[in-house]
Amino acid sequence: MNRFRMGVSLVVAAMVANSVCVSATDSDAASDTAGADNTVTIDIDTASDRKAISPLIYGVNSELMYKLRYFGSIRAGGNRFTAYNWENNASNAGSDWNHSSDDHLQGNVDYTLLGLPGSVALNLDKVCDTAGAYSLMTLQMAGYASADKNGQVSSDEVAPSNRFVQVMASKGSEFSLTPDLNDGFVYMDEFVNYLVETLGDAAHGGINAYSLDNEPALWQHTHPLVHPDKPTCAELIEKTIATATAVKAVDPYAEIFGPALFGYGAFTTFSGAPDWNDIRKSNPNYKWFIDYYLDEMAKAEESCGTRLVDVLDVHFYTEAKGACGTRYCTHFDDPACVYNKLNATRSLWDDSYTEDSWITDTGAEFLPILPALQKSIDTYYPGTKIAITEYDFGGPSDVCGAICQADALGIFAQYGVYCANLFAGSDAKYQVAALSMFTNYDGQGTGFGDTLVSCKYSDVEKSTAYASIYGDDEDVVTVVVTNKSFTDRVTANINLGRDYPYVHVYSIDGSAPIVNNLGTSCDAVSISDGVISYEMEPMTVSLLVLSANDPDAPETQAQTAPETEAPTEAPSSEAAESSESSTGNNITAFIICAVAILAVVLAAVIIIISRNKRTTP
Ligand SMILES: [Zn+2]
Repeated sequence: MNRFRMGVSLVVAAMVANSVCVSATDSDAASDTAGADNTVTIDIDTASDRKAISPLIYGVNSELMYKLRYFGSIRAGGNRFTAYNWENNASNAGSDWNHSSDDHLQGNVDYTLLGLPGSVALNLDKVCDTAGAYSLMTLQMAGYASADKNGQVSSDEVAPSNRFVQVMASKGSEFSLTPDLNDGFVYMDEFVNYLVETLGDAAHGGINAYSLDNEPALWQHTHPLVHPDKPTCAELIEKTIATATAVKAVDPYAEIFGPALFGYGAFTTFSGAPDWNDIRKSNPNYKWFIDYYLDEMAKAEESCGTRLVDVLDVHFYTEAKGACGTRYCTHFDDPACVYNKLNATRSLWDDSYTEDSWITDTGAEFLPILPALQKSIDTYYPGTKIAITEYDFGGPSDVCGAICQADALGIFAQYGVYCANLFAGSDAKYQVAALSMFTNYDGQGTGFGDTLVSCKYSDVEKSTAYASIYGDDEDVVTVVVTNKSFTDRVTANINLGRDYPYVHVYSIDGSAPIVNNLGTSCDAVSISDGVISYEMEPMTVSLLVLSANDPDAPETQAQTAPETEAPTEAPSSEAAESSESSTGNNITAFIICAVAILAVVLAAVIIIISRNKRTTP
């Protein structure tokens, strides 16, 4: 069993813990200080603007894959994957840490898979199967992968050298399931073939999607011993076509994500690529690199008869500075810095907002980013999906992080993002709590609805809200609502045009990074003339489950299978394993107990005997 599994149980256990509601006395005191300014209006129309929410937006990168029970998607990616060698599982840290070639990526792998070719991908598939998540594995495109796990690679061992093997998109000869470790090459199509043969293809239990390397515009910085020169746009397009063609030939069901651009500088000019100015001159209609990339992928589909890149994949780390002038400052006790943090997600969508960053200092032509990406897609390659496979708005240890995270998820749903994966280190507790609120607020696997509906809020700086239903059932509405005020309670008056007399409240506050279950009779909620008033504590994000019919009515309970009843579905192999190990644990416990009792009896006998001996003259 993996050591991280225990953490998952703790998180799940913590999530169902109850927390005390606002008392009536507290509410009264708040209404005295709140005043008219601390009221916001939320208008929900369950019949309007319905949009299916892609469950893949509730995703993480693999550093966090053991910290949640339910995910939409998991990405195995990041700098470590650029020189990952699937044959022997070696990888290189690049400039992140001493250019070390080592076993690092095996650290997160289940022990049953250690040492197998492609163990990192096999492990990703295993975790995704258990979590019901979509799997995104990174392939290599920079040119070379680690040959060994012998530690630091020196600058005179720059590729090509015996510290690296060459990466080829396609093998051009028969695939092997036991790759040749001594031929000096790794082949991407042989890797995918191995995964398809081992796990099934993307439509039958295997890896769902492949990412075309990671942040290619930075290769010369992150991996100067693998790819010392600044990549050109032409190189990226040529490698993208070669690799995507090779993958699709082996697994036509797999989706391809590209080009995993690191940020705004890559979106605009591929980070000042040597050939960008010439491309722009010959195609003045291209407003930014994204236009060119999408146009090239559309042309590639035309010439090869099949779509190669399914998902436009970008990374988005906020560049917005705190009031102190520093990006990602840690002044979570400073209302002005927190205010800036809480507004930073607006650069995803809000054209009335101007973040304080180097991007706006230089014009911010392509902010807000999601409408800009969609516009390029509509112009150059309609049908391309959008993914943000790395993002982070900060606040792993402060409730500010949960509020930003909830906002990001609501915005991803609103703007039709297909896949999104938090990349915030392995200890992003508040962001994980916000993800749990959307995927498993009750600890029983119930999440935010799958269909977004119209939800308009009156004051974006104070409070944001997102509403959803399950399928087309309007009897239950889930609403996520934030209070961004640093000090004040804010009352949200929620109008739905229909009575929802039952309100169950879940909330995350600054006391602990957990989803608190405030129950169905929370004093912070009152209903009058069909308007639900919810008085929110400062700096909180809440999820309200609104029901038209009593969710605890006897007929509903009768439909719920008792816990002791056998599951209707066949148990998964994971469940079978844990049941086996539980039986094993019982036997072990019995043996330990028996041995302990025997030892105590034996000790008592020895003591009695020795006393008898001492007292014997
Ligand atoms: Zn600050």
